[in-house]
Amino acid sequence: MAVEFFKEIGVKNGTSRLFIGGLHGKEGLSTIHTLKNIKNINVAEGSLVLCNLSPSPYLSTLDPLYYLSSNGSKLLNLIKNHQPEIYLELHCYHPEKSSKLTVCNRKDIFGVPALIELKYGVLMGSVSPLIRAVFFGLHDFPFILEMPCNPSTRSLEVSQEIMEITANSSNRVEIMKKLGKIYPQQVKRLDNYFHEFSLNFWPAFQEVKQEALKTDLKNLKDLDQLISRVICKGNFDLNPVQIGQLSQAFLIFREYKI
Ligand SMILES: [Zn+2]
Repeated sequence: MAVEFFKEIGVKNGTSRLFIGGLHGKEGLSTIHTLKNIKNINVAEGSLVLCNLSPSPYLSTLDPLYYLSSNGSKLLNLIKNHQPEIYLELHCYHPEKSSKLTVCNRKDIFGVPALIELKYGVLMGSVSPLIRAVFFGLHDFPFILEMPCNPSTRSLEVSQEIMEITANSSNRVEIMKKLGKIYPQQVKRLDNYFHEFSLNFWPAFQEVKQEALKTDLKNLKDLDQLISRVICKGNFDLNPVQIGQLSQAFLIFREYKI
């Protein structure tokens, strides 16, 4: 079966949605089934693009080099072209490696909080901060859905339900309200993550962008110094890994958005 897949439903006006799988490694071999088998997909208004990418060498979406890879560039071009307010990345993981995604000090190690299990091994969380802050509005819905590779019927059903709810909603608040009825504890934790992000990484990134426009940055050292000043002035709560991500996100912003 061909793994590359692209389908657009709905109309151009209104909410733009993008569901995309196969970002890296061989994940596309699993995510293609989820995208193709989705049965009750409806959009209330606006559009939905369903897309799956071909297998590629594995690079984490937390690694800035990913966005220079062939699949990474395809991904960013799709995001730039469709400008989705609702965005769902479909990933799959090998269950023996799930601790990398759910370990409680994940933020200290990888700069992002642990993904949260909804049910039957299906995990949810925000997309990489390297694109979260650059390509999306604060109140958009850019999320990751991770399911076990070669998922069980139950895991598939959970993923498909999330995709149906997400496709059939028009904004973040509506999606979280609907998900909260099914997964109240998990949605509460996701809301806490969002609150924390909106007080620290997000405003720090906005400030870095504004300050950088006023400054003649000659090299990475200048950027790092600017970031240090912004963090100190705003008293933002960011660990060393997240501070590195601010710099990486700014470089992606400069490459793709200016
Ligand atoms: Zn992945």
